[in-house]
Amino acid sequence: MAELGNPKKTTEILQKYGFAFQKKYGQNFLIDGNVLKKIVKEAGIGKDDTVLEIGPGIGTMTQYLCENAGKVVAVEIDKNLIPILKNDTLAEYSNVTIINQDILKIDINKLVNEENGGRPVKVVANLPYYITTPIIMKLFESHAPVDTITIMVQKEVADRMQVGPGTKDYGALSLAVQYYAKPEIVMVVSPECFMPRPKVSSAVIKLTRYENPPVSVSDEGLMFRLIRAAFNQRRKTLVNSINNSPDLNFTKESIVNALEKMGLSGTVRGEALTLSQFGRLSDILGEQ
Ligand code: SAM
Repeated sequence: MAELGNPKKTTEILQKYGFAFQKKYGQNFLIDGNVLKKIVKEAGIGKDDTVLEIGPGIGTMTQYLCENAGKVVAVEIDKNLIPILKNDTLAEYSNVTIINQDILKIDINKLVNEENGGRPVKVVANLPYYITTPIIMKLFESHAPVDTITIMVQKEVADRMQVGPGTKDYGALSLAVQYYAKPEIVMVVSPECFMPRPKVSSAVIKLTRYENPPVSVSDEGLMFRLIRAAFNQRRKTLVNSINNSPDLNFTKESIVNALEKMGLSGTVRGEALTLSQFGRLSDILGEQ
């Protein structure tokens, strides 16, 4: 393969096709071969794997994935990149399918059925940062068969996925990620490794999907509505934020009672609760 993971080759391709970066698509292409190799290694990709890559760009990481995986399905929104991928950078690979679509509009279950007979895939991506959270939530909430998700995100967002109560980064994303998967930051990446350079540092985080969530809860939907309410108004008490939420219908009294049953004060804030406490609260309120 003609390695694209360096500034010279990337510039050559961009100039050859007169490609102009589109800021609205979060285009920051990787130009560091060592980072690329490490991502593919940490993702643990082998010939038995089918990989879903979100946003292949000019195909820099896709080449590494094609070399290591059985099959690669790459979903790219920018139609200007498709001819580059198909006719040039990925032309030598017969194990790649390139799809010109918005990942947020795709039915992931259908895609995995069609491309991998419904067997679990591994997601690997240098994500467009403007839609990191919606993409992660979609991958989890669709309950599509996905084993692991190894993604480059803003360092700050990677931190948010890992932390627990008592830190300012703790929020709805932390709880959602930790309900569905075990998060592990595998590398911090500086802006110089991209073209153009982003303003912030990045990190690669690996999310390994749990077969069974670490917390059992009767109504997952209710738990996540409670979590969203708690962090939408994180400076308010949990009683007020739940009571004010248009998605929920609980009286202050019932919320105070539920918290009391859990040994928590009526003035506690949502940011103090662990995932298992949110699960318990959801079960108590759900019974009422
Ligand atoms: N994988 C390439 C690399 O590492 O050099 C490019 C990564 S770049 C950060 C993000 C890529 O995602 C861009 O190619 C962008 O066009 C694409 N993208 C942005 N929004 C998308 C969406 N909604 N669906 C699919 N691809 C998207």
